[in-house]
Amino acid sequence: MTNADIASTLEQIADLLEYLGENPFRCRAYRAAARTVSGVTEPLAELRRDGGPGLAGLEGIGADLAGRIAMLIETGRLPLLDELKAQVPAAAADLLRVPGLGPKKARLLIDQLGIDSLESLEQACRDGRVAAVKGFGEKTQHAILRKVAFARDPQRRRLLWKDADDIARDLIEWMRRCPQADRVEGAGSWRRGRDTVGCIRMVVASQSPAAVIDHGIAWPGAAAVLERVESATRLRGPKDTEIAIVVVTDVAFGAAMVVHTGSRAHTDRLRECAEERRLVFDARGVVPIGGEERPATSPPSRSSATEEDVYANLGLAWIPPELREGRDEILRAEDRRLPALVRLEDIRGDLHMHTTESDGDAPLAEMVRVAISRGLEYIAITDHGPRVSMANGLGPERLLAQWEEIDRLNASLAAAGPPPIVVLKGVEVDMLEQGGLDLPDDLLSRADWVVASLHYGQQQPGTQITARIIEAMEHPAVGVIGHPTGRLINRRPPYEVDMDAVIAAAARTGTFLEINANPWRLDLHEIHAAAARDAGVGLVISTDAHSTAGLDLMRCGVLQARRAGCSAADVVNTRSLRELRALMKRDGSRRG
Ligand SMILES: [Zn+2]
Ligand SMILES: [Zn+2]
Repeated sequence: MTNADIASTLEQIADLLEYLGENPFRCRAYRAAARTVSGVTEPLAELRRDGGPGLAGLEGIGADLAGRIAMLIETGRLPLLDELKAQVPAAAADLLRVPGLGPKKARLLIDQLGIDSLESLEQACRDGRVAAVKGFGEKTQHAILRKVAFARDPQRRRLLWKDADDIARDLIEWMRRCPQADRVEGAGSWRRGRDTVGCIRMVVASQSPAAVIDHGIAWPGAAAVLERVESATRLRGPKDTEIAIVVVTDVAFGAAMVVHTGSRAHTDRLRECAEERRLVFDARGVVPIGGEERPATSPPSRSSATEEDVYANLGLAWIPPELREGRDEILRAEDRRLPALVRLEDIRGDLHMHTTESDGDAPLAEMVRVAISRGLEYIAITDHGPRVSMANGLGPERLLAQWEEIDRLNASLAAAGPPPIVVLKGVEVDMLEQGGLDLPDDLLSRADWVVASLHYGQQQPGTQITARIIEAMEHPAVGVIGHPTGRLINRRPPYEVDMDAVIAAAARTGTFLEINANPWRLDLHEIHAAAARDAGVGLVISTDAHSTAGLDLMRCGVLQARRAGCSAADVVNTRSLRELRALMKRDGSRRG
């Protein structure tokens, strides 16, 4: 059981308590505990095993709650949750999955309109019955209708890429310990770096498929065997994930990797390419048309041991997995026009992160120390402005004090020669609901780096949201728009924002757009990032780290940029600080 699982269980209990009209302090205690648990980087299960002060030592978690969490970790269940569930209508749990629909509103809808499912809620919105309930109105009804569709979307059952990555790495490591496995690689949408993953696929080269499959089934993460055939198996893994393990011969390994990595659209087009060359290919290799009827044990007649071999047989250059979506990558591979994709090693700076001054977990000095150890040449400290009072956002006075601290830190880093890192004085300023920013212009003009983000008024109509973002881009101090669409994968849809207009305004004003690397956000996603790049907009990949561990999420943002087909030149934080400053709209000449 991961910390995220524990946190979501605690959150669910709080929702149900609130639904039942229980003591508000009790509800709040569960919510606070959920927040604490999701902020702990070390798995709670291990904290407990180590026998130290354990769970009760965590902020806001008393003996009673610690006991319940311990039971949850040990048994995977909590009687309290079952008791609460028995007391509320079944539809309540479904309604609470609609983002922004809290327990109080859900109860009103169930009690007054007899809503018993997401379908009936959707119908009630369409009939205008929701707007008629006291305290709802047209605007709320519109917002609920949009989000019901989101809550019903089956895509939401896919795992976040980062969660799939944890599972995939664990399984790869396990499979590589199988003595009969000659090669083991992960494939599927995990390898393509998609923002979410439905099924984790493994390809194994071996002469003994039965032994490999036995080994796979014995993986401690395997909860159930869904299917087993001679050379493949499907398992139910952690978090209800589907796992597929395919065993092939060494000589067909490349073909199997191509088949099991590409999207359906990609592999369909490859089959067309093969047909044009009087070839067929499947997971057993590439052969002339007619040759696919061969016995399963006979080797393919065209070299299929590596992916390069397979693509070469089809007259194509090897295509990076992130591009195998069936868009224009095959034409480009034919003409040898594939881009050299940006790599994690190309990233030289991180321009969005928080410290304990706002809602981060680590103080400034600690963030800087870890950023140095990660080899970054520059970072920007961008705590929240005052509008985000919930996150203890900084007003002018506290911000200036932080900037003085950064000046002192930079001076001490440079005292003994060239500094290992330069720390930029930045801020994540809020685009206010009625327009404007939450810090004065004279202050922003003194910042080295300004991220402008939208955290409030996300329900506004698209025209208003778009206008707020464009207004911010026209501000001379704003360097980049943070998480431009506001989506939280599986949790919250993007704002109703006109991205074509935002991208055009970014190009016109010289404002960069962010690819936020947080696995929940990945915002811009690949399609918008590609459109921005094509419009000549500079992209910034940022971690938006709220802890030192958060700095390691850069790879998730890099994957998204790779899926957009971006090379290092398209991403401005692959440049040196001097080059970056020259690219900023308020260019570096003033600063020298
Ligand atoms: Zn933000
Ligand atoms: Zn942020």
